[in-house]
Amino acid sequence: HVHVVGNACIDTTFRLGRFPAAGETLNATAYADGLGGKGANQAVAAARTGAAVTLWTALGKDPLGAWIRSQLDMELSDVQVSEFDLPSDRSTIVIDAGGENFIVSGVACSEAFDPIAQTALARRITPGEILVCQGNLRGAATNACLRAARKNGTRTILNASPIDEAALPDFGLADMLVVNQSEAKALTGQMDMAAAAGALAAKGAATVAITLGAEGCLVLGHGQAGALCLPAPHVKALDTSGAGDVFCGCLAGGLARGMPITSGLKFALAAAAISVTRPGTLLSCPSASEMAALVDQ
Ligand code: ADP
Repeated sequence: HVHVVGNACIDTTFRLGRFPAAGETLNATAYADGLGGKGANQAVAAARTGAAVTLWTALGKDPLGAWIRSQLDMELSDVQVSEFDLPSDRSTIVIDAGGENFIVSGVACSEAFDPIAQTALARRITPGEILVCQGNLRGAATNACLRAARKNGTRTILNASPIDEAALPDFGLADMLVVNQSEAKALTGQMDMAAAAGALAAKGAATVAITLGAEGCLVLGHGQAGALCLPAPHVKALDTSGAGDVFCGCLAGGLARGMPITSGLKFALAAAAISVTRPGTLLSCPSASEMAALVDQ
């Protein structure tokens, strides 16, 4: 069983030829609403691997919250929502013709969310299960989740993204730490990824995985002497947004289904490679039948 603790929001994407100047109004050439948030994305990816998944998330008591809930219910059989008298989290993403983007996010619910204090999470997680956290909740709230998991003997994956330097979670509480290259550089100051993995392991995570885009991922720990590089399948990348979330969700799902760490990472690499060949964030996540085909390979 995978417990994903994290944010769920609505992403509104506007596409236009160029960004507006200050004070200017432009009409978008296309626009769409979609379910987003790293918590929601990773929970959906994990569920499509065939693992049982619970998402623990926070929504506002507003029409957007009801919409997000309805989208989550289409994908997940167990969604534990903490409701707040706050506007639901949302992001506006503006993309120009060159593919550059601006993103503005409202994160009131994520900031108010303290799963251990406000939900039954601590009583629900058991040994043999996997808890997945990201960087969207306050560091102290994430730490409380990781601590509860450690006390219960539940394995933890911390995807330390996004990074809030002022309130980082305690990496020593994570059994597995997953970051991408720019996060690894920001967290360690190291440009060399093997050195960065070593520096992150020194902060206490038992296993460190650094995703390397088209190069795959680097993994250090779980009894290995040095860092091991696992290549990504060669594909023609069209849109890499959300690839990291597919990777983390599938890693958690694979581990929950009993895969050893290296097999779980290879499964995550295969699923993330499919996702980058298609447009969209959650839309590009492989389907349950595509995941099943990967597991059988
Ligand atoms: P993020 O999406 O967080 O920026 P990465 O760019 O490292 O992180 O991508 C996450 C994972 O997605 C990679 O480890 C890899 O498995 C997969 N991926 C990303 N880009 C490609 C690509 N061009 N070809 C194949 N796989 C990719």
